[in-house]
Amino acid sequence: MDEEIRRRRRALDQLWEEGRRAIGADQRFVPGEGSPVARLMLVGEAPGREEAEQGRPFVGRSGQLLNRVLQEVGISRDQVWVTNVFKARPTAERGGRIVNRRPTAAETRTGERLLRQEIQIIRPRIIVCLGSLAARAIIARDFSLSEGRGKWSRLPDGIAALATFHPAYILRQRGPERDQLMALFEQDFRAVKEALERCS
Ligand code: URA
Repeated sequence: MDEEIRRRRRALDQLWEEGRRAIGADQRFVPGEGSPVARLMLVGEAPGREEAEQGRPFVGRSGQLLNRVLQEVGISRDQVWVTNVFKARPTAERGGRIVNRRPTAAETRTGERLLRQEIQIIRPRIIVCLGSLAARAIIARDFSLSEGRGKWSRLPDGIAALATFHPAYILRQRGPERDQLMALFEQDFRAVKEALERCS
């Protein structure tokens, strides 16, 4: 196992080198992180401000919500691989402020290519897509979260995939709406925990 972990770390280092070159030195590169032999991979959209500052995925408010739910259902973040479709925060300057912007088609191609290679290296048994952008990159181009959330799909390489809400989307809601989404989010992660136990 140790040799396998070393082999995967080397492959990931090469992939990050390639990613940094493709993305360019002017953008902070945020690689995936976690256990390189994880059976579960979580895929978000793109690093936010705090992730770009720290160079780590899901360390801001979305990450805190995610960590809380993982802990609640009994999944240890150390044993998971956490990543994003985009490895850099797409930003623009507006009125003297740095804001998020929509990624370009070229950025999308690069992000999806790196992600495909990352999945081939980690070879998880289960992928959870956080939000529709990740689900469209991984499960189906026309994926709709309102129809497909919480349902399992089988990817061509045998990986089981499930899409749920993006934590940032939950955080944008207020009152009972937020509680409802939280309950579904937790329900989805409970299903993931059960599936993980079945595939151990
Ligand atoms: N949102 C994401 O999609 N990814 C992160 O890493 C943080 C926030």
